[in-house]
Amino acid sequence: MTRLVLATANRGKLAELRAILLPLVPGLADDDVATSADVGAPDVRETGVTFAENALLKARAVAAATGLPAVADDSGLAVDVLGGAPGVFSARWAGRHGDDEANLRLLLAQLADVPPEHRGARFVCAAALVTPDGREVVTHGTMRGRLTTAPRGSGGFGYDPVLEPDAQPARAAGRRLTSAELTPEEKNAISHRGKAFRALAPAIAEVLAGR
Ligand code: IMP
Repeated sequence: MTRLVLATANRGKLAELRAILLPLVPGLADDDVATSADVGAPDVRETGVTFAENALLKARAVAAATGLPAVADDSGLAVDVLGGAPGVFSARWAGRHGDDEANLRLLLAQLADVPPEHRGARFVCAAALVTPDGREVVTHGTMRGRLTTAPRGSGGFGYDPVLEPDAQPARAAGRRLTSAELTPEEKNAISHRGKAFRALAPAIAEVLAGR
């Protein structure tokens, strides 16, 4: 039976969230977590200008529609020399929502003349838990790194092929892998989303335990 709803239609995010939360929330099973699409809750437009605002908008709407505790996240890439852009506009930077390839191409073009020492950036994630009785908790996670000049790797999504995380797995052995060259487990261990959801897990455990 569903006890927790993830405010997304994305099955990939559901799998990722289950992998992160199940070991951290006592008694939580696969079947306890559903997406808003599974339970017929509406999609919510991300009209906020901060990651936390957007995560809260989505979690509030799903908690209100389902009467169940809801979890949502919002994330993006913040580039140092662009003052934190694309930020909350990461998914639609080139104009069309979700066109990952166009977004990435535009970003590389904007940074074409920027030397390696000024190519610092970070992925940011805000994760929100909202209960039907109005309890709200927001956590954040970041993954810092450096932007490459050309995409590398076939894993992940979005801007993964152009960010070399500062934290590299041992197997990299001195090379700099992009986030798209990491396994899902390697990425989860250091990612903005992994950190934000691990920080949210104790609050989710409390709510599900009725505390
Ligand atoms: P959302 O959290 O699904 O709204 O994602 C916003 C956008 O940020 C995505 O479309 C990607 O462009 C970017 N983004 C967020 N997290 C990641 C990541 O882990 N890797 C690559 N791109 C990401």
